[in-house]
Amino acid sequence: MGQLDEARFEALIGAGCTKCSSKVLEIRTFLDRRLLIMLADPNDAGRWVHDGEKFVDGTYRITCASCSTVVFEDESCPRCNAVGGLERALEDTSRLAIPKRCPGCNEIELLALALVAAKAKSGAGTPKPEPLAEFGEPGHHTVAFACESCDAAVVTQKCPLCDATGPLRPRP
Ligand SMILES: [Zn+2]
Ligand SMILES: [Zn+2]
Ligand SMILES: [Zn+2]
Repeated sequence: MGQLDEARFEALIGAGCTKCSSKVLEIRTFLDRRLLIMLADPNDAGRWVHDGEKFVDGTYRITCASCSTVVFEDESCPRCNAVGGLERALEDTSRLAIPKRCPGCNEIELLALALVAAKAKSGAGTPKPEPLAEFGEPGHHTVAFACESCDAAVVTQKCPLCDATGPLRPRP
């Protein structure tokens, strides 16, 4: 489990800002994003593929959207809970490089799965996350890539966010 379970997350969001009582909070989290890669460059903007449990699991900061009061913050790695890992997750670029061609069959198109820093506002309905980093920027970490032509797949064996050695904790 991450730093928050769903019950605590819901309680924090339901309570709103502890200072100004605003109900709109900004949530920062790391979310799963799928991208189509051609010759090692993204061919599309990618799309989110997380669910609600993963949204909660990756949460590392919650602040008031009006007055910026911090209502929750944790400095450990949002993926593996390593002490101080958040800083590396936000400041480092991806450590898993995607090759120009599939190592198995030379195909130029690969699918990538990344964990990407994102922000979303609480309020009515499901939060709509905005990425805080694009492919290649700090905070955008490739977890795996795969080829649909030959089924070759490469998955990072370390923590994709902070580079700590595995095994990684399970995610919900
Ligand atoms: Zn506030
Ligand atoms: Zn980590
Ligand atoms: Zn292939």
